Amino acid sequence: MNESFLRSIRDIAGDAYVTDAPAARFAYRQDASLFGGTDAAVIVRPGSTEDVSRIMALASRHGVPVVVRGGGSSIYGQPPGVPGKNLLLDMTRMNRVLSMNPQGMTVTAEAGIIMSRLQQACNRAGFYLFVPAAPVHTVSLGGWLSGAAGGGGIWWEIISITAVLPDGTVVRTGGGPGTHVRQTEAYSRIMGGPDLTGMFIGDGGSFGVKTEVTVRLLGLPAVTRASILVFRTLDNVLDLMARHVARVTPHPFDPLLVFGPGANELFSADGSSADMFTVMALMQGHTAAETDARRDAFAAIAAELGGEHTPELDALAGMMARAPDQESEMEMFGLGFFNGLGLAAWLPFNMPRPRMAEVYPRLVQWREDRIAEAERRGFECQARFEFMAPSDQCSVTGEVDAFFKDSTSPELRAFVRDMIRDYQEFTHELGLLDVYNQGMMSRLNAGCWSDGYRALYSSVKQALDPQHILNPGLWLDREPGSRSDTP
Ligand SMILES: Cc1cc2nc3c(=O)[nH]c(=O)nc-3n(C[C@H](O)[C@H](O)[C@H](O)COP(=O)(O)OP(=O)(O)OC[C@H]3O[C@@H](n4cnc5c(N)ncnc54)[C@H](O)[C@@H]3O)c2cc1C
Repeated sequence: MNESFLRSIRDIAGDAYVTDAPAARFAYRQDASLFGGTDAAVIVRPGSTEDVSRIMALASRHGVPVVVRGGGSSIYGQPPGVPGKNLLLDMTRMNRVLSMNPQGMTVTAEAGIIMSRLQQACNRAGFYLFVPAAPVHTVSLGGWLSGAAGGGGIWWEIISITAVLPDGTVVRTGGGPGTHVRQTEAYSRIMGGPDLTGMFIGDGGSFGVKTEVTVRLLGLPAVTRASILVFRTLDNVLDLMARHVARVTPHPFDPLLVFGPGANELFSADGSSADMFTVMALMQGHTAAETDARRDAFAAIAAELGGEHTPELDALAGMMARAPDQESEMEMFGLGFFNGLGLAAWLPFNMPRPRMAEVYPRLVQWREDRIAEAERRGFECQARFEFMAPSDQCSVTGEVDAFFKDSTSPELRAFVRDMIRDYQEFTHELGLLDVYNQGMMSRLNAGCWSDGYRALYSSVKQALDPQHILNPGLWLDREPGSRSDTP
């Protein structure tokens, strides 16, 4: 990267926030996944929307590829960009809550803020953000809404996004002052024009760099109730799920989590419920009376469908009947629990709810076949973990994970990496799409795009990023300056 370009970048972001040191470049080649981080020539930590705008304008003038990074928690790796030539924008310096609007029930924050920090700020103000089980201590707001769309991430709660386009132009979507010159605040993203906010959700960061986001808030629920039961068949679990989502929306206050046999084996000391499903329904509300009524309505349906109580699960449900401000502690427990199981082959799925009965057993069988192959090669599978949850009325998201011993063995890591990739190819053959729009997963998804959808994506990308400098190669195989955009 040439010296005068680097000097200009240092002038914009400040010397302390720009580096091309080998140690830093090495560090940013790592991430939370088995697929790896980005090979960058220089790393920049911008401090404001203006910094990002000036950096993008400069990169665009010089045709320098730019890759964006939030918390680095992608499961499928970071965007490769053009290895060795990238300017990597680490967004985590932009971590402030900019405004809390208690009357209008919105919060505006910089996109690099880590979700737990944002959640805590909202909780302190008496509000709540829907955070469906993501690793909140590492995931950034901008990374989550770019890379984990739909069932996994947040989308409907997002009202307005400030994004810097590849040429440095700053846009603010969502009906507020950035959209409508007489409107002083963003309060609804679907009025006054097409939903251009949605365009930046799940784009993997290929249309713009998000710098600020306005999110709709919910009142912090004061009361939690839980109902935890065992079911002997998947069919009954799916019937329960169908009746649950017809009554209440599981998102955000009535989540239903189902754990499969492998997870049960880990939970129960004697393995007694190992071949069953455990259903955990949480009800979060504002008064005990209202929340108890929802729990009792759920319990009546569960009893009708053969749900069984055990003294241990009833005791656990009692313990969970507490305020949700301990979510953060639960998250730390969750991370410790999974780390202790070994090297994870994360095998997530997301599908239309009616397909579950047919498809779910095939996913479990696929995993079992691959575990048998691992064992033939001398690798030891220490644990299996299955869960599923309706993300809304229409879809179910979940995982059928496997965990292996000796997590540092390079052969095992290669095996698990292939397992993750092959599993996703299998789910695509079955017609499922994953919730994650990031790393190798974006390429896999784009490989299944119809001609029309690909043409629409390419036209938008071409119009916004004619030189293809922002997260190049994330979806389609087109490097800066080239004309081909075949996947
Ligand atoms: C162990 C584990 C468990 C997980 N469980 C869940 C779960 O239950 N639910 C869930 O939703 N997710 C889950 N995730 C996935 C995680 O939420 C997503 O991968 C999320 O996208 C990561 O956000 P990040 O800030 O770390 O982004 P990164 O990994 O840094 O980036 C992800 C993508 O977003 C782009 N990007 C990042 N910031 C910006 C920005 N400001 N502007 C434009 N583009 C940007 C990047 O270029 C990249 O393409 C899990 C991940 C791990 C490692």
